[in-house]
Amino acid sequence: MSQDVIKKAIANQKMRCPKCKNPIKKYDNYVVMTDTAYDGPDSSLQLDSGGPSKVTLICGNESCSWKERTEYWENYLEE
Ligand SMILES: [Zn+2]
Repeated sequence: MSQDVIKKAIANQKMRCPKCKNPIKKYDNYVVMTDTAYDGPDSSLQLDSGGPSKVTLICGNESCSWKERTEYWENYLEE
């Protein structure tokens, strides 16, 4: 997963605000978490490109102040 995926999803209105159900318009503070805290037997598990990423999603629609800092932004992606 990369920033490009988020960028395209937003451009194509494929990310949906859970609060107002309108497409999310903005994101901010994208960062790839290279310093992940995986331990234990699953520590060799890696996501595809460069580890998990974290981003602030911002609805940006009028009369909606929803935003969320999340590493599970894929959950907001629509098919
Ligand atoms: Zn919203």
